[in-house]
Formats: sequence, structure tokens, C-alpha cells
Amino acid sequence: MLAAVTSGTCEIALVERDDPAAPGPGEVIVVPEAVGICGSDYHFFLGELSDAAGGSQFPRVQGHEVGARIAAVGPGCDPELEVGRRVAIWPLVPCGSCYPCAVGRPSTCDNFRLIGIHDDGGLQQQLRVGQDQVFPIEVERAAVAALVEPLSIAVRAVNRSRLRAGERAVILGAGPIGQCILLAALERGAEVLMLDRQESRLELARELGAQTARFTGKDAAVAAARAFAGAAGPPVVFDATGAPAAVEAMLAMVASAGRGVQVGMSNAKVQVRIGLLTEKELDLLGVSCCERDEFAEAVALAERRVASLERLVSHQFPLARAPEALRFAIDNPTQVMKVVILVEQ
Ligand SMILES: [Zn+2]
Ligand SMILES: [Zn+2]
Repeated sequence: MLAAVTSGTCEIALVERDDPAAPGPGEVIVVPEAVGICGSDYHFFLGELSDAAGGSQFPRVQGHEVGARIAAVGPGCDPELEVGRRVAIWPLVPCGSCYPCAVGRPSTCDNFRLIGIHDDGGLQQQLRVGQDQVFPIEVERAAVAALVEPLSIAVRAVNRSRLRAGERAVILGAGPIGQCILLAALERGAEVLMLDRQESRLELARELGAQTARFTGKDAAVAAARAFAGAAGPPVVFDATGAPAAVEAMLAMVASAGRGVQVGMSNAKVQVRIGLLTEKELDLLGVSCCERDEFAEAVALAERRVASLERLVSHQFPLARAPEALRFAIDNPTQVMKVVILVEQ
């Protein structure tokens, strides 16, 4: 089979590899059809993945946003996992024994493994996964199945935020994760204001159902949030950028007794006046991956929001052009929403 192997910083090439052996008990071999490329893939490729995330471990087959078909099923698997079914892959393999796992929070497992980061992922013609990672999905395009993974992060973010119907939420950052949070928030019956520097991204957010405002700095963002949600500020704010200016705006605009949810990843630092946390009694919540139930929730949401998710796919490349696809996405951040690599068989 063919695999796109990232062998070092900015080095990726297609290589011929042996097919995986027949699946063992509880294992499934899937044939990846579509693989989404996201920010963490760029960081991995550029050798910038943080030590806390395990660093960039080469060589690696990247790709953790995977839409696939079941090719072979090992003994003892759920009978629902039939050969030929289209599936989305939950990329997380938690250890099951650390403190977060013990308290039912595997998405922040101390020893977690993610396919495409710590183990080989979807940019290859066959992939072996555990049956717990395989979720059947009824959608026409494999690219939509690949988008379940970013959508699952959004589902987790909205779950952690305790967003309720009728509440007004602000999302900072209209990239793929911000747009997915928008879809998950709309599903809850919330009203959403999306902020971003880039007009084309805001245009997409409007088409998906958000009100929008240009992000031109913290003070203007706070004013826009108050105009939208009232003088007390929005009760729920998501940062999907990881940019210090946006995180500062989130902390400044969120209402007292509100919830601020950090989804964008970054090694940058922000200065926080400590009194702000006590005076507002803020719930400041972080989001990493998602729980298994939330991945199932994201599958159901994707099935209901197919047309919206298809809008997020801005570029598609075949597997043979995976190296070009990664470089294109890194070099053209303002043009690219979501690059999807189609793994032709
Ligand atoms: Zn991702
Ligand atoms: Zn664990």
C-alpha cells in the first residue's frame, strides 16, 4: 500500500509499505478515504509540536481527521461494524489507568496517544484501529466523515461551556474549529457572534448562521460583544485562535459568572490581572480532544449538518499530492479553510 510518510521537519514523501496483517480481536482495518489537515498537522510537519503534546516524532504517517470504509473486522467486534460501511475515526487512544481516565476524562489522559501524532494515522491506504475508535456514519461524501473529528472538538467545547438555548455566545476565530463551534452552538439553540480579522471567513460564518464583526483589537471586540449580548457581556466566550490578543479579549468581554472556553492551542503567553478571575468568578475551561460519547454526538451532528460541513472544505488533493497539500495549506493561510486529502484506492 501507499503511505505519505513525514520523515523529518518539512520532509514528506509517498512510500510503498506492507499491508497491515489481518485484524486481531477487537481490531478493525479501515481504508481511509478522506483525511482533513489541521493546524496541529502543520505544527507537527514544521517540527513545532510542543513537548507537552509529545513533540514531533518522526517518521510518522500523519492524519487524525479520517473518513474511511471498513475493510476487515477482527474477532469479537461489534456486529454493527460491517465490512464496507463508511466510518469516522475517533483518533484518541487513552491509557485507561491515569487520574483523568479514572475520573472519566480520557480526552486529557496523561498518556494519551493520537493517531497521526503518536501513532501512524490516515494518510495511507490501510489503517489498523481498535473497534472503540470506529463510528459508522451515514453521509454521501467521505470528506464529511473526516470533518467529524474537528466537529467533535466543537461538541466538547460547547458541552464544557454548558451553553443553553437562547444564550448569546461569542466565538473568537472563524477558522475550521471556530466554524464547527458555531454549528454546535446553533444546534443548542444559542445565538452566536463570530469575530475574526478576515472578512472571507466572516462571510462563511454568516452563511452558516452567525452574526459577525471584524476583530481589530481587544477594545473594539469587547464593544462588539457588548453590543451583541448586552452591557454585562456574553455569558459564554470561546477562543478558537490561541492568539494572545483574542484570549485577552475573551477574558475582558466575558460576563461575570460566565464561562470562557480556550480551544485554540498556542505556546504564547498572556498576562492576566488576577483580580479579574475572582471579581468575575470566571469558569475558565480548556478543551483538548473529546470523550467517546461526544464523538458519537459529533457523528449525529455531522449527519444533520452535511451542507454546512461541505462548505468548510476549501481545497482537495489526492494522496499522491499530499506533500504539496501540506505546503499549500501552510503557505496560504488566508485562502485555506480546510484542506482534505482524498486517499484514492
Ligand atoms: Zn485536528
Ligand atoms: Zn489515561
